[in-house]
Amino acid sequence: MAQPREGWHAAGSGGSDQGTVRRANLALVLCSLRDGGARSRARLAGDLGLNKGTVSSLVSELIDRGLVREGSAERGAVGRPGTIVEINGTGAFGIGAEINVQHVTTLAVDLAGQTVSERRTTVDTRGSDPDQVVDRLVKLLHGTVADLADLHAGPVSVVVGVAGLVDHDSGTVSVAPNLGWQDVPLASLVRTKLGDPSYLVEVANEANLAAVAEATPGDPDRRDILVIHGEVGIGGGIVSDGRPLQGRLGFAGEFGHMVVERGGRRCGCGRTGCWETLIGLSRLIDMASDEGDLLRSPDLDLETKVDEINRRAASGDRRTLAALHEVGRWVGIGAAALTNALNPGMIVLSGYLGEVGAWIHADVETELASGVLAPDAGGTRIALSELGFSAAVRGAAAVAINHVYDDPTLVPRATQPLEALS
Ligand SMILES: [Zn+2]
Repeated sequence: MAQPREGWHAAGSGGSDQGTVRRANLALVLCSLRDGGARSRARLAGDLGLNKGTVSSLVSELIDRGLVREGSAERGAVGRPGTIVEINGTGAFGIGAEINVQHVTTLAVDLAGQTVSERRTTVDTRGSDPDQVVDRLVKLLHGTVADLADLHAGPVSVVVGVAGLVDHDSGTVSVAPNLGWQDVPLASLVRTKLGDPSYLVEVANEANLAAVAEATPGDPDRRDILVIHGEVGIGGGIVSDGRPLQGRLGFAGEFGHMVVERGGRRCGCGRTGCWETLIGLSRLIDMASDEGDLLRSPDLDLETKVDEINRRAASGDRRTLAALHEVGRWVGIGAAALTNALNPGMIVLSGYLGEVGAWIHADVETELASGVLAPDAGGTRIALSELGFSAAVRGAAAVAINHVYDDPTLVPRATQPLEALS
C-alpha cells in the first residue's frame, strides 16, 4: 500500500484542515504513481481506497500542476479501457550539490529521477575559507540552473551535502574536521550568494544523503539499511523503515569517529583510534605506498587514485593487496559492532569502499560473521554501492525532488483559480 512519503523531514503540523487533507491526498496519488507505476484512474482509486470522483479530481489537479500526464489506454482491463496516467518527468526538478574534501559537485534530476544536468569542479577544500568554497559552489549552481532554464524549468529545491556535522534546522555546519570548518552558516551563505532565490536551500550531512540514495522507495530489501561511506574520511547513514534516522540534532551516522583502537592513530577530529584512521582512503594509501608515490599526489583526484589502487590489486601487487586486506578486516570489525546494535537488512559499502569492494568483501564478511552475536550475522548482507562517488549528490538531488512528492502544491498550477487573477 502506498503511503505519503514525508521524505527527509517528517511533515510538521499534522493539522486536519481541508487544505492539509487535499495536499496529503495529492501526495498519496503522486507517490503511488512513482512506486506502483502508471495506471488508470479507476485502478488508482481501487489501490488507494479512495472513490473514483476524488481520484479524478486529484489527478486533474496534478495534471494542471504539470506533475502527471495522460498516457495511452490501459491494456488488459476488464470492461472499458481507461486512459492511464503517469508521472510527467519534466514536471519538476530538484538540484543536489556536494562539497567534499576534493571536489564540489551539482546534479539535477527531474520528477522521474532522471539526471538532467551534472557539473563538477576539482578543488582542494581542506583548510579552505568557506566563503571561497561557496563561491565555487554557487558558480556551479548558476550553471545548473541555466541547464534547467534550457529545459524551460527551474528547481523546487537545492540540497547541499557536506562532509561534516550539520544542524539540519539552521543549515549550519557545526564542525567539518576534514574541511577545517566550524560553525559555518552554510545554508544562509549559499542562499545569500544565490541572491535569495524563490526555491528552498537546505544543507545536510553528505553521508546521510548517500544513504538516502541507496534506499530505493518501495524496495523491501532496502527498508532497514546502513551505509558506510568512504572517501578521505568515513561517514555513514542509517535508514530505518525506509527513512533516514537523524538523531536528536541530525548528527547520527558518524561511524567514522567510533573509537575502535584506543591509543591508535590521530584522527582529523583530534581524537585517537577513530574507525576512520583505520579504513579511510588516506590510511589505505599510507599502507600501500611510500612518499613520492603517484597515489600521494595532491593533484590526483579520488577516482584516479582508486582506479590506480584497483589496477595494482588486479596486477597482484602484494603491498596493495595486504593494505586492502587490512582495511577489509577493520571494516568488518566496525560493521559487526554496528550490526550487533542495529541488525540492518543490508550494509552498503559506498564511496571508495564500494569501488574497492571486490578486494575487501570477503574480509568484511569473515569479520562480520565472527563478530555478530546472532547466527549468520543476523541475516545482514554486505552490498556494494553501484552509485560510485556520486551517491551523496544523488541522494541530495533525491531529497530535493522528494519535496514535490511530499507536497505537490509546491509546483504552481497552470490555470490559476479566478479569484487569484483579480
Ligand atoms: Zn575522529
